[in-house]
Amino acid sequence: MSELQHTLASSASLTGTSLHTGEKSTITLQPAPVGHGWKFKRVDLPDQPVVDAHCSLVKTVERATSLSEGAVKVQTVEHVLSALYGMGVDNALIEMDANEPPIGDGSAKPYVDLINKAGVVAQDTPRSFYAISEPLHIETKNGSILTIVPDDKFRISCTNVGPEGRFTQFYSTEITPALYEKEIAPARTFVYYEDVKPLLDKGLIKGGSLENAVVVKGESVMSKEPVRYKEEFARHKILDLVGDLALFGHRIKGHVIAVKPGHGANTELSKQLTRRHAQLLAMVPPSTTPKGGDVLDVNSVMKLLPHRYPFLMVDRIVAFEGESKCTGIKAVTINEPYFQGHFPGHPVMPGVLQLEAMAQVASIAFLHFAGETPNGRVGYFMSADSVKFRKPVMPGDTLFIHVEVTKAKRSLAKAKGRCVVNNEVVSEADMLFCFVE
Ligand SMILES: [Zn+2]
Repeated sequence: MSELQHTLASSASLTGTSLHTGEKSTITLQPAPVGHGWKFKRVDLPDQPVVDAHCSLVKTVERATSLSEGAVKVQTVEHVLSALYGMGVDNALIEMDANEPPIGDGSAKPYVDLINKAGVVAQDTPRSFYAISEPLHIETKNGSILTIVPDDKFRISCTNVGPEGRFTQFYSTEITPALYEKEIAPARTFVYYEDVKPLLDKGLIKGGSLENAVVVKGESVMSKEPVRYKEEFARHKILDLVGDLALFGHRIKGHVIAVKPGHGANTELSKQLTRRHAQLLAMVPPSTTPKGGDVLDVNSVMKLLPHRYPFLMVDRIVAFEGESKCTGIKAVTINEPYFQGHFPGHPVMPGVLQLEAMAQVASIAFLHFAGETPNGRVGYFMSADSVKFRKPVMPGDTLFIHVEVTKAKRSLAKAKGRCVVNNEVVSEADMLFCFVE
């Protein structure tokens, strides 16, 4: 039984002071449908724009992680994302009436309390996991070293070393909702007095006070509340890592080993994971016809699909994966009839035909995973959402058509599709189908 996606059972709000602006702001966590992920909604702006929690939108990593899409910015997103990932919430809409959520006590505990208040419920679709298959290692100019190695669980081991070796700490834990809530969420942000004094003088951290961070001067802690754990700083670094890795968008099975992590290095790791994930999806084109019962040649494809030349958009199915994924290929040549008119002197494959290719592979996937015999039912394309055409497809390209079935009922089914050429996504869509005998 695969793990299911989870969302919030109800909505819950929290009001407090933002760290950088010092203004009051309110954050409201709302339930969201499967496959939604985490998105920020700026309810204070006209049309209430939404910013995806994705590492491709990372703008700045100084002291906190900020995202922006166009002119819309959300900053200091890492603690709330950390709480959502850590507490096992896959889908949530994060509404804010400012560009920054309240900082609370500098930990993720206020957000964990908010999630517990809203409640967490299972949804009807499996979680998307990315299992690390080979080590990935990055080093940055300012001394961050991050390595991720294969593991059945999601685990983080982290060291923190302060200036002159002060506060050298190590902590290692698996990330589960129970461990996250008890061992990680309450760990607060920490700052060195010598670093923060110039910022306070410049008025850069208006909401900063001894209540929302552990302030360290020399060997001693200036904050009223003593440290919550012997290794509170290393634990907070783990908290930040969880939040920054949430920007990868898939749950990780792997062990992150982090030396002196920071938002720059953390978000870079998310970006590299995203790149590797896309390459994995693209797969290497086979140089010979793959053998094996799972793989369909063009004759088998035509037994499942009623489409024929010039409207058959799949040459071969090269892989069925797990219980929901299917990959087909289409060699795009100058002999395609549509190139005569699209466009003379500048042949480009029409985006709608890539959409059709995704729909044809999706139909094959539905019938295959439902265990149906050829010449049985036919899938009708009902709707397509979130359709994006990202790059032109030219004669000579091989289109890898990846489809994941996200819902399969007797008469209705949903799938996510993406077309990939040379390891780059050229088009994608969410599709809905109905089936007729
Ligand atoms: Zn932090």
